Amino acid sequence: MVLCSIGLISGLSYFELSRTTEDNASIRIDRAARAAVAILCFGTDRFFEPEFDDTDNPVSLRMTAIDGSPLVKNAKLEQLVDAIGRTNQGAANLFAWAPQTASFDRFVTTFKPPDGSPPAAFSIREGHPAYTSLAAGQPFIGEVPLMGRFRLAYLTPILTENGKVAGALAVDVGWVDDLSTAETRLKTRIASAAIVILMGVILMGGIFLRFELRPLRRLARTADELAAGTQPREIPFTDRQDEIGDLAHGLERVTDLQDKLQKLAYTDPVTTAGNRARYFSDLNKALKRAKDGTFRASLIHLDFNGFAKINDTFGQQVGNRVLLQAYARLAKIFGPSAQIARISADDFCILLPFDAQGAIAEDYAIQAIELLSVPFHMEEGEIRVEPSIGIALLPQDAHDAETAHRVAGLALRAAKESKSARHIFFSAPLNERVQTDMLLETLLRTALKTGQLELHYQPQICPADDRLVGLEALIRWPNEKRGHIPPAEFIPIAEKTGLILELGQYVLERACKQAAEWQQAGFEFGQVSVNVSPLQFRQPSFAATVRQMLAAHRLPAQMLCLELTENVFVDTGEQMVLDILSELQQIGVQLSLDDFGSGYSSLIYLHRLPFQELKIDRAFLAGADRDPQKEQLFQAIVGLGRSLGLRVIAEGAETPGEYALTAAHGCDGMQGFFCSPAVAAQDVRECIDAFRKSRPARSATMEKKRA
Ligand code: C2E
Ligand code: MG
Ligand code: MG
Repeated sequence: MVLCSIGLISGLSYFELSRTTEDNASIRIDRAARAAVAILCFGTDRFFEPEFDDTDNPVSLRMTAIDGSPLVKNAKLEQLVDAIGRTNQGAANLFAWAPQTASFDRFVTTFKPPDGSPPAAFSIREGHPAYTSLAAGQPFIGEVPLMGRFRLAYLTPILTENGKVAGALAVDVGWVDDLSTAETRLKTRIASAAIVILMGVILMGGIFLRFELRPLRRLARTADELAAGTQPREIPFTDRQDEIGDLAHGLERVTDLQDKLQKLAYTDPVTTAGNRARYFSDLNKALKRAKDGTFRASLIHLDFNGFAKINDTFGQQVGNRVLLQAYARLAKIFGPSAQIARISADDFCILLPFDAQGAIAEDYAIQAIELLSVPFHMEEGEIRVEPSIGIALLPQDAHDAETAHRVAGLALRAAKESKSARHIFFSAPLNERVQTDMLLETLLRTALKTGQLELHYQPQICPADDRLVGLEALIRWPNEKRGHIPPAEFIPIAEKTGLILELGQYVLERACKQAAEWQQAGFEFGQVSVNVSPLQFRQPSFAATVRQMLAAHRLPAQMLCLELTENVFVDTGEQMVLDILSELQQIGVQLSLDDFGSGYSSLIYLHRLPFQELKIDRAFLAGADRDPQKEQLFQAIVGLGRSLGLRVIAEGAETPGEYALTAAHGCDGMQGFFCSPAVAAQDVRECIDAFRKSRPARSATMEKKRA
């Protein structure tokens, strides 16, 4: 704006000055003409009569002398022309019209050439700018050529009394280029002055703006820092009382807000530990520093086995309080140098700096397991958690956050699966095992999709009379490259990956279909037992699925038995197990507690759970016929089941002795290789017939033994 104003004013001045110069020149020449006419008229006793236009400028001079007397040089005229020249400070000339040469010939002049020489003869002829006007008896005002230059002249025609052209009076006010030189010089000065002023203003303005904008630039830099997520050390200019101060205060408020938001964004609301975002940010930073070769750390991944059960049993509020207290214990053990974050439900990740060998991590892991195993005293009662820990060393085990998290997670999973170790370091063999599992998972996925899996059935025989009381459906996976892959190898992977849901659905479907076919064919098989994994059991839709399967195949509910292991209690609260079981009971299916005695034995709940069948784990029968103490144990478990009114099935009778034991202690059924392994559906009858046929021989052997 300032620059524009200066430019405009300079332009206007320049224009105004040019106009004034032009006006001055024309005023001067007009005045010169008037003065010349006046001097000539009065000096010759009004021999000349002037005529003026509206603005009093002379148009012509009429001679009042005898008509036709020529204009000739005389002393009087020379004197007057001299006076005119002096008055006007220019040149004055008198011309006489020469009809024979059709020219105005100068006969008196005050003009002196610049070199001081006497003026040469001069005539105005055709082609001279003034000629046409003068010949027509009109005045001429303008530039006339002289000696290769131009003079600003006023030429007034002199007429005879009867109006014929007799000559001309010419006055000038100097060389035109002299006049314009002054004008040009003035213009140049104005332009230079304007440029100097402009430069000055630009310079001053620049300095002023630079000085004035400096705080703004600093505040803008601070705002940039804020936008980039870095917390500025301090906001400058907050002490100023002007707009800059206001702006600084605004930024201060934004910083506070960002600080709060950042805290919220990186804090776990339940425990106040860091959250997942904080964890990955810290992990990334640690690995970046580790890349420089100066930093080492260990990553501890901790979680509690069966924590979901606490939520199921006591509710999420209580679960959250346990997590809060667990975090307090962790913070106490690991101290302020460790970065602790809760990344999901019961997963804590701890980054321990400067731990090259993992020795510190191991010490801490042991302490953490010890301290966290101490029960939490809550209003609702004493709550115990069972921590497991996986440890990865950085940067040995991983160079990026994702891998670091994955390998620590693998170590944690290994610790959870391990029966003896509560904390495990990530290692190459562990990684290999995981790779193998991953390969198996891929193969299993394909097997499920391409229908490679088959269902076989293992008979359950009543040892007293060889009656078929049930058939357990067992999954089989014949694999081209690896032969038969045993369920013990792929079921755990299916459970880990969730594939067990698809697999379970397939087994349930096929078993119901097969049972319905047998029933329609009049084959008395008692019941078909299907193994249900804990994950499948916990699905909210499980009972509905069972109901739907039975309906779809028109299979009476009591012909289907669902086998559950004690593992269902590990991750699911007692009440939830009870609720699901009673829903299944309402459907009318049989419920069997599989592998009883092999794991987490909830004897205390046994009488409250609506099971109809107890399957004693093979471990109790194996060799019991040769070990009286073991036999007693087996007998006691059979007795326990019977006293609770349950149907008791003994698993894994392999030898005649084990088989005899199941009969001797009154098991309702026995399932084992002694009778038959699991066979394809079409081979079941043949198997049972063969076993029945062998009864006399078996009885004879037993008689012999008894004798
Ligand atoms: P389980 O439910 O306890 O099944 C009985 C296992 O004992 C079967 O092993 C069976 O072949 C084996 N067995 C039967 N009689 C004898 C014997 O006399 N001696 C020995 N040593 N073993 C005997 P299998 O088929 O390898 O299955 C192992 C486990 O895999 C099953 O244990 C069950 O927990 C799981 N499983 C098998 N099929 C399925 C299924 O369709 N779904 C689910 N969720 N799990 C399944
Ligand atoms: Mg079973
Ligand atoms: Mg079993």
